[in-house]
Amino acid sequence: MFRLKNLLETHFDELARSITIENGKILDDARAEMRRAVENVEVACGIPMLMLGDFAEDIARGIDEYMIRQPVGVIAAICPFNFPGMIPFWYLPYAVATGNSIIIKPSERTPLTMVKVFQLLEQAGFPAGVVNLIHGGAEVVNALLDHPLVHGITFVGSTAVARHVYSRASLHGKRVQAQGGAKNPVIILPDADPEMTTKIVTDSVYGNAGQRCLAAANIVMVSGAEKTFLPLLAEMASSRIVGNGLTAGVHMGPVITPHSKARIQGLIETGIQEGANLVLDGRNPHIAGYEQGNFLRPSILDHVSPHSTVARTEIFGPVMTVIHRNSVDDAIELVNSGQYGNMACVFTSSGAAARKFRTEAQAGNIGINIGVPAPMAFFPFSGWKDSFFGTLHGQGRHAVEFFTQTKVVVERWLKEWERPF
Ligand code: NAD
Repeated sequence: MFRLKNLLETHFDELARSITIENGKILDDARAEMRRAVENVEVACGIPMLMLGDFAEDIARGIDEYMIRQPVGVIAAICPFNFPGMIPFWYLPYAVATGNSIIIKPSERTPLTMVKVFQLLEQAGFPAGVVNLIHGGAEVVNALLDHPLVHGITFVGSTAVARHVYSRASLHGKRVQAQGGAKNPVIILPDADPEMTTKIVTDSVYGNAGQRCLAAANIVMVSGAEKTFLPLLAEMASSRIVGNGLTAGVHMGPVITPHSKARIQGLIETGIQEGANLVLDGRNPHIAGYEQGNFLRPSILDHVSPHSTVARTEIFGPVMTVIHRNSVDDAIELVNSGQYGNMACVFTSSGAAARKFRTEAQAGNIGINIGVPAPMAFFPFSGWKDSFFGTLHGQGRHAVEFFTQTKVVVERWLKEWERPF
C-alpha cells in the first residue's frame, strides 16, 4: 500500500490527464479526483488498527472469547463513468488490505485510467490474481453477479442499475453495497452570504458539467432569497468558460456522450413545456474548434414545480432547477419528499436554521455552507433512500466491515493437572 501510494504520487499528473481525456472534466477536477483516490490508499495503510478484533478473558471460568476479522473472498467492484480514477479506490485498497482479491470493472465509457493504474499496481508488486481488471458492459456485470466464486459486490451508478445489481447479487447470497443516483436539493435562505453562496452553488451545479452524484440540482430559494441570489447565480453561471478540459482557464468540459447531450437538451425542453421559465439557455452552444463535441453551456430553469419531471429526474448535466418556498419548514418538507437521499445542503448564517436542517433532512451527506459534502476517506459515503441499497457504505470503517466477516472463537484449555488422563 505504501509503495502504491508513492507510485500514485509520482504518476499523479499523468493519471489526472488520462481522466480528463476519457471523461472530459477539467484538469483541476481530475487532480482533485485523484487526490481523493490517494486518500483512500492512505487510510488503508492503517488497516491493522481498523481491522483489530475484540478479546474477552474469562467469560466463564477458564474460558476466553474473541472475535477476529477474516476476508470475504473475491470482490467485484462495478464502477460508473463520472469518476474513473477515484471510485475504484473507494474499494480496491480496503478489499486488498483486508485480505480479499478484487476485480475492478470500470465503465465501458471510461476504460483508460484504470489500465494505467493497473500498470502501477503491477509495479508496486501486488501478487498476480489479487487485483484484476475486466472491461465490458451489462453482460460482464451480470456474469459477475451470478458467478459462484464472487462473494461480494460493490456498485456505483444509476438507481435503476443499482436496484438490479442489489437484487440479483443478493439472490445469489452475496453481500452487496450499491450506490445509486441522486437529485440533490440545496436550500438558500435570505441570510446566506451572497458571495460565498453564489460561488459554491455555481461550482456544485456545473462542476464536472453537472455529472456528479453530489451535484446541486434543485436550488430551493426560501422567503424571497431569489431576489438576491438568482441574478448572481445567473451571472456567474453565464460567465463559465466551456471547452477542452485540458486547456487552462476552462471551467467546464463536455458531457459524456452525444446521447447524454440530447437527453439533457430534451429535459430542458420538457421543463419549458411544464411551465418553467428558462432564465439561461445553454443548449446547442458553439465551441470553436469543437463543433462535433458534446458541449453544453450552463442552463437555469426558474419557477420549477416540485412535482414536475425536471424537479424529480436526475438530469446529470449542467442544468440548475430553481424552486421557491416560503419557509424553512416548507423547504425541508420539499427536501424530504424526494425519491433520493444522497445529499442535501443549506446556505445560511443562522446556526438554528442549520441545526434544524442537519437534524431533519433525510439525506446521508449533509452540507452546511458547503456545496459538495463528499466525505473524506475515513468517513462513509452515506447515501440514503433510492441513492443506496445495502447497509455498509464505501470508505473507512464501513469498508473494513464490508470486506471482512467476523469469526467468534470460544476457547478453553484444561490445565495439565485437570486432565483426566
Ligand atoms: P450506469 O448505471 O449507467 O453504469 C454504472 C455501471 O453499471 C457501469 O459499469 C455499467 O457498465 C453497468 N451497467 C449499466 N447498465 C447495466 C445493466 N443494465 N445491467 C448491468 N450493469 C449495467 O451509471 P453511469 O451513467 O456510469 O454513472 C452515472 C450514475 O452514477 C448517476 O446516476 C450518478 O448519480 C451515479 N453515481 C452515484 C454515486 C454515489 O456515490 N451514489 C457516485 C457516482 C455516480
